Amino acid sequence: MPKNPYAWVEQSLATIHRADWYRSVQAIASRPGATVLLEGREVINFASNDYLGLAGDERLIQAAVAATQTFGTGSTGSRLLSGHRELHRELEKAIASLKQTEDALVFSSGYLANLGAIAALVGKRDLIVSDGYNHSSLKNGAILSGAMVIEYPHCNVEELKTQLNLHREKYRRCLILTDSVFSMDGDLCPLPGLLELAEEFSCMLLVDEAHATGVLGATGAGCVEHFGCSNVPLIQIGTLSKALGSLGGYVAGNSAVIDFLRNRAPSWIYTTALSPADTAAALEAVRIIQKEPERLASLWRNVNFLKQQIAQKLPLQLLPSESPILCFPLESAEAALKMGHQLKASGIFAPAIRPPTVPTSRIRLSVMATHEAAHLQRLVEALNENYF
Ligand code: PMP
Repeated sequence: MPKNPYAWVEQSLATIHRADWYRSVQAIASRPGATVLLEGREVINFASNDYLGLAGDERLIQAAVAATQTFGTGSTGSRLLSGHRELHRELEKAIASLKQTEDALVFSSGYLANLGAIAALVGKRDLIVSDGYNHSSLKNGAILSGAMVIEYPHCNVEELKTQLNLHREKYRRCLILTDSVFSMDGDLCPLPGLLELAEEFSCMLLVDEAHATGVLGATGAGCVEHFGCSNVPLIQIGTLSKALGSLGGYVAGNSAVIDFLRNRAPSWIYTTALSPADTAAALEAVRIIQKEPERLASLWRNVNFLKQQIAQKLPLQLLPSESPILCFPLESAEAALKMGHQLKASGIFAPAIRPPTVPTSRIRLSVMATHEAAHLQRLVEALNENYF
C-alpha cells in the first residue's frame, strides 16, 4: 500500500501536462459581448455560448436586479420546500410557450436537468441507447440511472436500428438520448430518423437542445422546431445559460412527464431552487426572443457570412456544421493549443478543444448575433496569418 494515498494525484497531473491536456481558467474582466477584456486586452469573442448577445443586455440585467431587490439573492430552499416563487412558474410557462409543449420544469442548471430527467425516466430494468458524441451530462445521467447503456456511432441511425433490433426486447423501457446540436462539432442529430425508430421500437426520445434553444427554428424554439417536429411526443432538455444569457436548465414536454419529474427527479427535488436573479433574467430573455426575431436573423446572417468568407478566402475545411458552432480540425492537442495562443495574440478569443472532451483536437468558433462584419473579417484575416 502507498505511504501517501494522495501521491497518485500529482502523478496524474504530470501525465495530463505531458499529453497537453492540462486545462486552466482565463478571466474576462468585462460584460459579455462580441468583444471582451481578456487578460488586460480587448479581444473579439468567438468563445462564448451567448449566441444572441443577451448575457450583457441591459434589460436582462435590470430584470435580475429588480428580482433581487424584491426576492433577495438566494431562493433559500428547494422548490418543494421554501424555494418556489411565482417567477419560477412564469418562466416555466414562457418556456412551454416558446417550445410549444404542454409544460416545462426549470432546474438549477442544464447539467442537473439531464441528470435528473434521465435518472427518473429509466432504471435497472431499462435500456439507454446514446449517441457516442453526447454531452457529459447525458452520459453521466445514463450512468446515474443504472440502466444498461449502449452507445451508437455518432448520428448513425442504421447502427442504432441494429442495436435496437438486438437488444430492445430484453428491456422494460428504452430511452434514446441525443444532443440536438452537438456542442463540440456543430452538426445536428438526425431527428426524423430517430423519431421513426423511437416509434417502431416503442422508445422514449430525449433531445438536449442546449445549443439549439434560441438559435434554431423559425421562432428560436430549437432543433425540434427546425425539423418541424414540435407536436411529436418527445422530451426536450435545454439550458438557460447559452442563448438565454442566464443560468439554469429546463425540461419541456407533456404535462404528465413534467408532473412525474416534479415527483421523481432527484436533482430537482433535492437542490436549491434557481436564484430569483437568474430566473428573472431568463424570463426576460424568452420574452425578447419572442419579441425580437431580428436577433435570430442577425445570428444566421453572421453564420452564413463567416462560412462564405472562410470558403472564399481560406483553404481550410470546417467540420460539417448546421449551427453557429464552427470547428477547424488540427492534428494534435499541441497544435490546437498553439493555434489558440496565436489567435489570442492576434486579438481573437477562440478556444482549443482537446481530448478527452473530443476525440480529435480542434479550434472551436461560436458566432454571435452581435458580431459586426468587421469582427468576422478580422477573424478570417487572423486565421490566414496564423494558419499558413
Ligand atoms: N448539454 C449540453 C449539450 C451542453 O453543451 C451543456 C453545457 N456545456 C449542458 C448540457 C449543461 O448546461 P448547463 O451549463 O446549464 O449546466
